[in-house]
Amino acid sequence: MDYKQRVMNDIESLTSLSDEKLGRGYLTEQHLKNAVASGGPLFLTIAYNDISTDVESTRLIRSSLKSGHDDVLVEGDRLLSGQPLGFMIGQVSTSTKETHKWFNLNGDELPHNLQIINENVGFINNICLSSVIDPNTILVDLISDALRVFHANSCKYACIIIRGDTVVDGLKHELLRNGFEPMQAYENYWSEQSRVRRFSCGVCGSPPCTCDGYLYVKTLY
Ligand SMILES: [Zn+2]
Repeated sequence: MDYKQRVMNDIESLTSLSDEKLGRGYLTEQHLKNAVASGGPLFLTIAYNDISTDVESTRLIRSSLKSGHDDVLVEGDRLLSGQPLGFMIGQVSTSTKETHKWFNLNGDELPHNLQIINENVGFINNICLSSVIDPNTILVDLISDALRVFHANSCKYACIIIRGDTVVDGLKHELLRNGFEPMQAYENYWSEQSRVRRFSCGVCGSPPCTCDGYLYVKTLY
């Protein structure tokens, strides 16, 4: 089976996982389908159980990455059995305009080095982990994969905005371990989005979301 087809078949599982962990309606099936099919700036990486070894470990599949590195992650259908253990959606921005759009903030609210940026910037939009196996193993794999993509796409910075009371255990720790630095906090960062898109937050519940967003940035070169 074509691996993209396999990923498409798991969209429903990924949406349920997101509803459970990130909050109901936060990511729709359409969001995830766009990430698989875009051929544009988005990519989706999914972690599955690796059943090719006796050691408990994960294997990643990445879709729709524009630099064509998909192949390194897939070694055959037999590795793709089982439910997804977690996933990440990321993207690469190639202009100041796109970067500002991603932040959904005014330019002057951004850290100085991101206000006008002529280099590519990598963003981790969402990370979501199931509780099935050690979430840290999956987290390590997903963040490494994001950094691989960003390096391959010559990104100057890697960025992520996380909730203070992070839904993902160990996420903050893993970011720091990978050289991300805390830059700025944004009050009620998802408030407007949660009202417009009517999602309920995995941490604080029904809209409006009252979580603050914490920006972490890693300089890649
Ligand atoms: Zn919230």
